[in-house]
Amino acid sequence: MSKGDLTYWRGSSFYVNPTSRCMNDCLFCVRHFGEGVFGFDLVLDEDPSPEDLVKAIDNTWDSKFDEVAIVGFGEPLLNLDAVLSATIRVKELANVPARMNTNGQALLLHPTREVARELAEAGLDRIQISLNAPDPDTYLQLCQPKLGRGAFESILEFTELCKPLMRVELSAVDIPGVDIDACRGIAERLGVNFRVRVFKGPEGALDGIFRTLTT
Ligand code: SF4
Repeated sequence: MSKGDLTYWRGSSFYVNPTSRCMNDCLFCVRHFGEGVFGFDLVLDEDPSPEDLVKAIDNTWDSKFDEVAIVGFGEPLLNLDAVLSATIRVKELANVPARMNTNGQALLLHPTREVARELAEAGLDRIQISLNAPDPDTYLQLCQPKLGRGAFESILEFTELCKPLMRVELSAVDIPGVDIDACRGIAERLGVNFRVRVFKGPEGALDGIFRTLTT
C-alpha cells in the first residue's frame, strides 16, 4: 500500500489522488511549494493499484460528499486504469458529478487507447485540461514537458476528442507573461469552456517565473 493519502476532502468535495508523478515540471506547480493540500499528505511513494485506490475510496467515502474530483498531486492519466476504476466506484457509491484535472497529454501517453471514450464510459462528467500557454514555445518554457514539443498540439487534439463525450474546460494559470486572452481564444476556437486558475505558490515565486518566460 502506498505511503501518502489516496483520497482527501474539504467540505462536501471528495478528491482522489491516483499518482504524485508527472511528466511535466510546470514552474507554477504546487508540488514545488509543499507536500499536499488541506492538511493531507499527497506525495505517494508509488502509484496505487486500481484495487488499492478503490479500497481507499470505500474506506473514506461519506454521504456528505456531493462532488468528486480526480485531482491528485501529479498527472492522473499516468495511472489510467486506477482512474477508471475510481471513477466507476464513486459513481456506484453516489450519483454525484465526477470531474478530472489533467495536463491533457493522453494521446502521447496512451497512443493505442481511446482515453476520452474510456473516461466517458467510466462515468466522468467533466474534464479540466490545463492548457496554460497560447503556443508551443511558451508551453515548453512554462511546463517543461518531458514528452517534448508535441505535447502542446496533443493537448488540443485530446480536447477535441473529449468535447462530444463530456463537459470540457481548458484552463490557464494567471501568470505574468502568459497571454491569458490568447489562451481563452484557443478555447473559444475549439468550442469549449475556459477557466483562469489562481497561482497557488508564494507571491515571490512569480517574479522568477516571469523572468524565465521573458528571457
Ligand atoms: S501538469 Fe500539473 S501536476 Fe504536472 S507539473 Fe504541471 S501543474 Fe504539476
